[in-house]
Amino acid sequence: MSKDKVELKTKPSKIDQVGDAWILHFPRFGEEGTHFHTYGMLTPYFKGLTEGKLMATWCANPKCPISRGKGELWLPPRADCPDCHQPMEWKRIENTKGYIYAYTYVERGGAGLEIETPYYQIDVKIDGVCTIVKSYLLDRKPIKIGDKVKAGFLTGKNATHTSLDLYFELI
Ligand SMILES: [Zn+2]
Repeated sequence: MSKDKVELKTKPSKIDQVGDAWILHFPRFGEEGTHFHTYGMLTPYFKGLTEGKLMATWCANPKCPISRGKGELWLPPRADCPDCHQPMEWKRIENTKGYIYAYTYVERGGAGLEIETPYYQIDVKIDGVCTIVKSYLLDRKPIKIGDKVKAGFLTGKNATHTSLDLYFELI
């Protein structure tokens, strides 16, 4: 391990906006091989990352058989509730601290991997969030399950406009 922190080997992707939705330009095979991907109703999540905000969704439908209108936070967010299929509400996660629930030490990545190896791919449990979010750890020192982490963001001109804009650091 030559460096203390993980670096990305990717360039920021171009974004178009149609209505409220972002459309990502993802040139996998050069400009003529560009893949266009819309974030659709999940655009607030990706936009939030570039502004240093972690946005989750929750079900506010009082007729929902599971949430009864008092849903827990989902991260990654879902546009519609998996239990009642109604649109979910957005809420910012103010306290992004959590702990490492599981991890994989990645020494060799597959084709197209945009994170410089070695790195830890981590599953993080954040207080008040009912799901577990998958991300990567910026630190390269040895870790163990249960270690405390907090979210960090690639914002402004450093933003990639992908899920890589969310990372975690040891605290
Ligand atoms: Zn629901």
